[in-house]
Amino acid sequence: MKYIQKSAEPNSLSTWKIKQGAKIPTWKSFGRTVVKGQLLEILLKEQGYICCYCGVAIDKGNCHYEHFKPQGIDETVRFDYFNLIVSCEGEDDKPRVPVHCGYQKDNWYDKKLLVSTLIANCGEFFKYSAAGEILPTEETSKKVAAETTIEKLALNIPKLQRMRKAAIDAELELLVDEDFNEEEIRNIIKDYLELNDDGKYQPFCATIVYILENYYL
Ligand SMILES: [Zn+2]
Repeated sequence: MKYIQKSAEPNSLSTWKIKQGAKIPTWKSFGRTVVKGQLLEILLKEQGYICCYCGVAIDKGNCHYEHFKPQGIDETVRFDYFNLIVSCEGEDDKPRVPVHCGYQKDNWYDKKLLVSTLIANCGEFFKYSAAGEILPTEETSKKVAAETTIEKLALNIPKLQRMRKAAIDAELELLVDEDFNEEEIRNIIKDYLELNDDGKYQPFCATIVYILENYYL
């Protein structure tokens, strides 16, 4: 899981919200505005075009708006910019199987047990294996939330394990040929932590960084 640092609420959304007055419009009615499309671009940019939960590559056609606190249990958060992120899998009526991330989470929410991608240390809750598994940290204060989040979002399903393993293997293959020293490994990690020239993070960058930091330093 990679921390998403929210920027200020975009003016287009603020202005639209003011125009609505005291009532909270439906999400469907928001869909008829240009503001919604603009918002998606802003959110995708903000999180570097990777899923807020699993880290897979996303773009306009294969993602959906995700309410961190579900609008289904609290409509006041429906247009709260600081609650809006983007998850993998498109805006389908019926999510494709296997279901994971935002669609799997659905209306589940537990402030203490759902690890938030919006807190800076969210990465510390998880470990990864070279086989592509995501595992809870051993740290007592974080372990239960990590376990619950992995389960409720289906983050350890075989599909995601395979994708993570492929991403790890692709990086490790590059390391095999040369004998990288510590500084070079640190530079590779730094690259994974930064946006590339297209403003995108490498898919599963949090996983790869974990593997490099824990097995190669
Ligand atoms: Zn995802």
